[in-house]
Amino acid sequence: MNAKPETDYDVIVAGGGAGGVGAALGAARAGAKTLLVEKYGFLGGAATNSQVLAYCGFFQQGKKPKKAVGGAGDLVLDALKILGSDPDAYCSETTGNWIILLDPEKVKLALDRVLLANGVDILLHTRVAAATRTANHIHSITLAGMDGRIRLSAEAFVDATGDANLALVAGIDCRQGNGKNQFQAASGPIRIGGLDADFVIERQVIVKAFEEYNTAGCKFPLTRHDGGIYTRVPGSSDMWWLMIDFPIQDLSSSSFTKAEIHMRAAANEYVAVLRENVAGFERAYLIQSGPQIGVRESRHPAARYDLSANDIRTGRKREDGIARAAWPMEDHSRPGNPVYEPVGGDGYAHIPMDCLRAKDINNLYYAGRVIGADPLAYASIRVMGTSFATGEAAGVAASMPNADTDQIRKQLSNGGSII
Ligand SMILES: Cc1cc2nc3c(=O)[nH]c(=O)nc-3n(C[C@H](O)[C@H](O)[C@H](O)COP(=O)(O)OP(=O)(O)OC[C@H]3O[C@@H](n4cnc5c(N)ncnc54)[C@H](O)[C@@H]3O)c2cc1C
Repeated sequence: MNAKPETDYDVIVAGGGAGGVGAALGAARAGAKTLLVEKYGFLGGAATNSQVLAYCGFFQQGKKPKKAVGGAGDLVLDALKILGSDPDAYCSETTGNWIILLDPEKVKLALDRVLLANGVDILLHTRVAAATRTANHIHSITLAGMDGRIRLSAEAFVDATGDANLALVAGIDCRQGNGKNQFQAASGPIRIGGLDADFVIERQVIVKAFEEYNTAGCKFPLTRHDGGIYTRVPGSSDMWWLMIDFPIQDLSSSSFTKAEIHMRAAANEYVAVLRENVAGFERAYLIQSGPQIGVRESRHPAARYDLSANDIRTGRKREDGIARAAWPMEDHSRPGNPVYEPVGGDGYAHIPMDCLRAKDINNLYYAGRVIGADPLAYASIRVMGTSFATGEAAGVAASMPNADTDQIRKQLSNGGSII
């Protein structure tokens, strides 16, 4: 695809998480001149900015791991492997699901490498701040970065910001949370050091220590009572611990400020509880929280189709399917009490192209957790493996403005996506 002389890019992708990386790779590999814009100084989205240290959604549930996502996602796994990461399926001790464990520093480096190798232009420290549009077309976006504000035009745009920040500034209607102002809980995964490599972490001891903490007029009562989700961070003896859940009241900066301050204080307190009460944690210390709290849900911009819980429940297949949703519906509506509902049929449901298309704007596509989905289907499609797949499809579609779904599917198959 050749850029018209008056546009700066064929495709501009906003957001450098799994959805945005998939989109940028999909667009660039389809021949589009592609820019990826990310507000932090590194790529990876929640994996690197909130310590979500596992890729879910690459595999179906079952006794043996069965691949559901390939293509751009596999390029990332290959780049991780070159850096010494193990991209093989790991069975989560807590849920029995197949995941891929991550070292965040390797993720950052692998993503830089794979995007540059595929000819994607990258702008870090740069935030999408505004958009100009007509009734059904975005012409340009304004970027706020280290050199002030610049305006760039493109043939098509992909919103992969997780929070639908491009759609928001373009004035698109957005559902907040489940539409009743309720959001899946935010969480603060943390990394803990000071543990011996051969020390076996015992869940019941942690559960007991926090039962006692919770009843003693504690400062930060826990909503999670199962000891949380934990693993060792690959390549280290550090513990990755997902224990702190926090309800989101609304999407204001002041609510998020409260959540961040609470999460940081609670993280320090909980590590102290471990240090003082659990054998093996005597030298434990908090290596890192953040950089920001993990946001499971914020806003959902209007799409042409919302994937439904029933689509997932029945493992629905469709001729216009462009990606596979294989992760169970993992609902965190009640902080501390995740509920899992498996994918039906033969273990995956198709996500149709219309979930990735903005309702009224013809040259805006969605990738990652902003795609169209009802509240429960959202609890499946939001994971990062699936986000690579919806991202790749969004990038391919954005780079082929006149293509029908069959042509998009063909390009995806050529790229190795499993659809
Ligand atoms: C606590 C927690 C635990 C989770 N556990 C798992 C798990 O184990 N495995 C799993 O696969 N998924 C998990 N998830 C879900 C998953 O992390 C997200 O749904 C997923 O990261 C979505 O990918 P994304 O690319 O759509 O969004 P994100 O990963 O959020 O990436 C969006 C990117 O856009 C950038 N951005 C935002 N606004 C702008 C802007 N205006 N301009 C430029 N850039 C912008 C952000 O900085 C970010 O890098 C978890 C989520 C949370 C919060």
